[in-house]
Amino acid sequence: MATNEASPGGGTGGQTDRVELSEDEWRRRLTPEQFRVLREKGTDPAFTGRFTHPAERGTYRCAACGIELFDSGVQYDSGSGWPSFTRPVGDGSVSLTEDRSHGMVRIEVTCSGCGSHLGHVFDDGPGPEGRRWCINSTSLSSQGPPPAT
Ligand SMILES: [Zn+2]
Repeated sequence: MATNEASPGGGTGGQTDRVELSEDEWRRRLTPEQFRVLREKGTDPAFTGRFTHPAERGTYRCAACGIELFDSGVQYDSGSGWPSFTRPVGDGSVSLTEDRSHGMVRIEVTCSGCGSHLGHVFDDGPGPEGRRWCINSTSLSSQGPPPAT
């Protein structure tokens, strides 16, 4: 559980201990499905993810590096088929990048801790910020109980 070891290339003074691994190291550390989504920017098929529907699970963490990303208290059922949140746990937990793949202009969400792909954010959410954080179940881990199916 100790995660306070000196980060590689320390001395930068950043707030986040960024995890920098080669793709080969990620491939060993992650399941093939996690590697496909997190490192190759894949997408879970709609309505198949284990976290698609909101439940009492506490905090969702990055499945790759383990930093806290989303609280289950801001998860809602958007009907999209993917876990949807109104906001991340903190401004520093995720990074946003313009994504022009697949003939669309979207905002890609990546983990600030390790740069892994999480999902996309859209402007049709119900919260005060009006945002829908659409995240792959495969990109998340939870310490809470598994969903009842
Ligand atoms: Zn991460």
